[in-house]
Amino acid sequence: EYDELLKFKEVNILDKNGKRIEVASNISRKDEVDLALKYGADGIGLFRSEFLYMGRESLPLENEQFEAYKYVLEKMQGKPVIIRTLDIGGDKNISYLDMEYEQNPFLGLRAIRLCLARKDIFKTQLRALLRASKYGRLRIMFPMISGLEELLEVKNILNETEEELKTEGIDVGKYEIGIMIETPSAAIISDILAKEVDFFSIGTNDLIQYTLAVDRMNKNVSYLYNPSHEAILRLIKKIIDNAHNEGIWVGMCGEMASDLSMAKRLIEMGLDEFSVSPSLILKLKKELDKIVNF
Ligand code: PEP
Ligand code: MG
Repeated sequence: EYDELLKFKEVNILDKNGKRIEVASNISRKDEVDLALKYGADGIGLFRSEFLYMGRESLPLENEQFEAYKYVLEKMQGKPVIIRTLDIGGDKNISYLDMEYEQNPFLGLRAIRLCLARKDIFKTQLRALLRASKYGRLRIMFPMISGLEELLEVKNILNETEEELKTEGIDVGKYEIGIMIETPSAAIISDILAKEVDFFSIGTNDLIQYTLAVDRMNKNVSYLYNPSHEAILRLIKKIIDNAHNEGIWVGMCGEMASDLSMAKRLIEMGLDEFSVSPSLILKLKKELDKIVNF
């Protein structure tokens, strides 16, 4: 069966308008890039950078991060690599940060909020990313954006960091920036946010949890966690339309992207990129190929 799937490794998926649909890989550790390549990933759709920060006693230094990002970019040989900035808080914690107890960590100081509260940590990561940018096709992605002001602040810090590097005589390559659309507020104002970035990636794991008010890890209410809830489908459609109106593309890196039963609807809605775990890439390519050639 695997041999049969391997046929799809080099297959390009083109929709009925001739638009290429990318099938990218989610990775959590730099070494997983080999698996992504083995299974024919068109790019990295989500590198969860927080794993560089977890399972250790102190923050990863700028150079260590730089080496990790450079490694992934070089391995992908010009294929796009989306690296998401630190998404800690919620279900993921790092002991050495001494984070305050919160009653609702998923609604608390998580992801970009933590980065804006700890600009030192954020800027170290941005420096590492910008330094790595010339080794491949880098796309920097920010998680948990919930409003325009937040995004503008992030862009200011990014620009400031780039200026500082240039003043130090350090080269910065080309790169794109994008945001996760994973809060209902971001989805609702996606027309406004689309003017500020190069791409969106829909984080359905959180978008569903926040929109349906269902804890994504609570088994008592998991029966309500429904990706095909009409509210979710409408939001996704809206996000894609708003993005395309501004001429930017939209991917999906939440679990819903690997739900083969949803693929047809997502393609019909105009989704441009799917990002799934390495072992699912070939299955998804096979399914998408079937859908577009039907
Ligand atoms: C998501 O929320 O869908 C997502 C991809 O991010 P994470 O699962 O890391 O929160
Ligand atoms: Mg998320």
